[in-house]
Amino acid sequence: MRLRNLKNKEEILENSNYLVKIPSDFKGKWNKYFNNDNPIYIEIGMGFGKFIVENALKNPDINYIGIEKLDNVLARCLPRIPEGIDNLAIVRLNALEIDEIFDKEIDRIFLNFSDPWPKKRHSMRRLTSVNFLEKYDKIFCKNKTIYMKTDNRDLFIFSLESFSSYGYVLSDISFDLHSDKEREIITTEYEDKFVKKGIPIYNVVATKLSK
Ligand code: SAH
Repeated sequence: MRLRNLKNKEEILENSNYLVKIPSDFKGKWNKYFNNDNPIYIEIGMGFGKFIVENALKNPDINYIGIEKLDNVLARCLPRIPEGIDNLAIVRLNALEIDEIFDKEIDRIFLNFSDPWPKKRHSMRRLTSVNFLEKYDKIFCKNKTIYMKTDNRDLFIFSLESFSSYGYVLSDISFDLHSDKEREIITTEYEDKFVKKGIPIYNVVATKLSK
């Protein structure tokens, strides 16, 4: 995502009630942050946050953590979030370090319109590469569930293969998620843009039950 540099971004980040300033403090005890034992769902690469905010408002008994690596994106997203959503936290982090802030406590990961990294030599940077699946193993509490949506066919096929060879079982596979008009879908900013242009959205749920 290319954005104009925001001059006051440090100040916006500093003043946000949602941004957790030292997320590693809560490693293994995010239930203490939320003050309850509800399930924790995270979105990696949350962008401007529409998806995670709408989910948090709709499901107050689930805790949501949005993860984003770019300050410029966070500085645009944070001021737009309505005050007082108790089941929402935002973390500034590169997902490469995800196992430094969580320990066996995540119930679900959402990957929405992740960067495709089309060059083969960059394939390990894809958030569905084995590189990341190994990290996710350390943060999931028991059963592992990854919900993925993308407009990028190559990333989708790569991810289906990567999930299955890592032992995930695939379900809810769609090559055109929005063709089902009955389905209630919480969309992301990117998704809205693509759907408006008539671009199909790919969807998959990958699950690995613990023995
Ligand atoms: N999910 C949003 C944004 C998609 S764009 C939507 O669907 O609208 C992908 C986002 O992921 C960008 O904001 C990018 O900065 C972020 N991102 C990419 N790689 C990341 C990583 N390794 N760790 C954290 N965020 C990442």
